[in-house]
Amino acid sequence: MRALRACRSRKGGGGKGKKAQKRQREPRFAFMTKSDIEHLDDGYRWRKYGQKPVKDSPFPRSYYRCTTASCGVKKRVERSSADPTIVVTTYEGQHNHSSPAGHQPRRQAPPR
Ligand SMILES: [Zn+2]
Repeated sequence: MRALRACRSRKGGGGKGKKAQKRQREPRFAFMTKSDIEHLDDGYRWRKYGQKPVKDSPFPRSYYRCTTASCGVKKRVERSSADPTIVVTTYEGQHNHSSPAGHQPRRQAPPR
């Protein structure tokens, strides 16, 4: 036996997509990396100063700040909710110094 649905209601497709977008002046650039490690070693030194839950994502967003006192560069790291293997890193601002000399990554992820 089949149950037939006699009642078919049609909804008028009047969906209005409204997206509020914030404009920010800070020069920002983001890139995506496929990585197990969330905080990628980029040659600079960072200090984690915060973490916030991300809307619609099970992964929190971490906030880092460049440890050089005169430099105000910030970095946000979050894992993509669409693809958990992808880490999204967003830099805010630009370093006013070169990467710390003599800093060598202790561990390098072996290429797979
Ligand atoms: Zn810096």
